[in-house]
Amino acid sequence: MVKLIKNSVLILMAFFCSIGYSQTETKAKYVFLFIGDGMGLSQIYTTEMYLNAKPDEIKIDKLLMNSFPVSSNMTNYSANSYVTTSCAAATAMSTGFKTNNGIIGKSPDQKISYENISERAKNAGFKVGILSSVMIDHATPASFYAHQNSRNMYYEISMELPNYNIDYFGGGGFHYPKGGKGDQPDAYENAINKGYTIADTHEEIRNLKNGDEKIIAINPDMYPSGEFFWAIDKKEEALSLADFTKKGIEVIDNDKGFFMMIEGGKIDWACHGNDGVSMVHEVLALDDAIKVAYDFYKERPDETLIIVTADHETGSLYTGINYAMQPELLKYQITSVQEFKRKMTELKTADPEVSFNTLLDVIQLDFGLGNSAIGLSLDDKDLAMLKSAYDKQFKGNKTINADADYLSKNTVKSIGETAAYILNNKAGITWGSGDHSGTPVPVKVIGKGQEKFSEYFDNTDLPKKIQNIMGI
Ligand SMILES: [Zn+2]
Repeated sequence: MVKLIKNSVLILMAFFCSIGYSQTETKAKYVFLFIGDGMGLSQIYTTEMYLNAKPDEIKIDKLLMNSFPVSSNMTNYSANSYVTTSCAAATAMSTGFKTNNGIIGKSPDQKISYENISERAKNAGFKVGILSSVMIDHATPASFYAHQNSRNMYYEISMELPNYNIDYFGGGGFHYPKGGKGDQPDAYENAINKGYTIADTHEEIRNLKNGDEKIIAINPDMYPSGEFFWAIDKKEEALSLADFTKKGIEVIDNDKGFFMMIEGGKIDWACHGNDGVSMVHEVLALDDAIKVAYDFYKERPDETLIIVTADHETGSLYTGINYAMQPELLKYQITSVQEFKRKMTELKTADPEVSFNTLLDVIQLDFGLGNSAIGLSLDDKDLAMLKSAYDKQFKGNKTINADADYLSKNTVKSIGETAAYILNNKAGITWGSGDHSGTPVPVKVIGKGQEKFSEYFDNTDLPKKIQNIMGI
């Protein structure tokens, strides 16, 4: 008899476990999903080494995301490759289905449009916010609302954006608002015609308030192509991903709850360019945005869930050369490689005959390279690499200097890329490629239902877990 009762209890327990949360149990009303595009473990760890790095001291400073109680890993292979692209990973994370690299929100054969978590949350009465530091029609954010055969169909994605009554879009703008050739009906006009308000000045964004509906808030301080300036180059007054997160909460906070996806999109971009220091600053900018959500969580810990993860790792970044790292050297890079490239163009316009020695002075200002007092002297191979880059950019000579090290295996890179390569190596960080890698990504979680993320899982399970905790 006792055994029978025991068995019945076990069966009942198994039943309730299988259906997840029971009707009477409280659910997460407020969910934040942070995606660091390209943010693998090495990207996070390099940032932790960089924070307060000093010579002759081995210590790390934890990022906020690493203070969260649940920390696990997630696989991210796509339907047709062990190495995913952002859109296939984001489709898995938003719909629970794997698709082929290149596709947004649709099946591998492109015949089925998958319902995503934003649609499900909207149908269940939650408000939804989608934010990114890159174009809002870029692969990751697009996968949380759009269904298109290719991630490169930016215009089609931007035209589809207003169709789902998403409450708040924040961050970057449309990549090609009038199509690739600039001859299509304006996607912003299309959004306005469908009831959206575009806020793209500091004042308009400041004036957005709780209860405002169908908002597209676009950073006034960004590149014309629609993405934020690099965090490392950010001017004090420019709006950050944290600012857009804060404003998003203000706009969509309501009693029924919300789901918000926030992408740090340029971590991936920095890693594609093997620009380690810019990558670090993008991770820090994401952690700042997480801080905003964490402050919200502290007010409503029983109803809030925060998940931080990535779509994939980028660059096959590894830490340490000959058992050594000197992360403090990374502090001497004060400009992104992209911004340095712009400076070089300016310099060439101002003085086409600029000498190699003058150029070395400029490099020292922005990368610290050549200053032996801080441990950044340049050896013959370093100088040969920089000279090859200089010869190419200023003299049009694409021949690789025979003494150049890695460049002998590749085409000559730009001066900024070469300087970043040299500095990264001196600091002890190395890049295996300029592409994505297939390693599982970290997952950091705090809040309602956090325990459901504690085991190694696949990215298709991510939305299922979140929906379960939200009760949708
Ligand atoms: Zn990428």
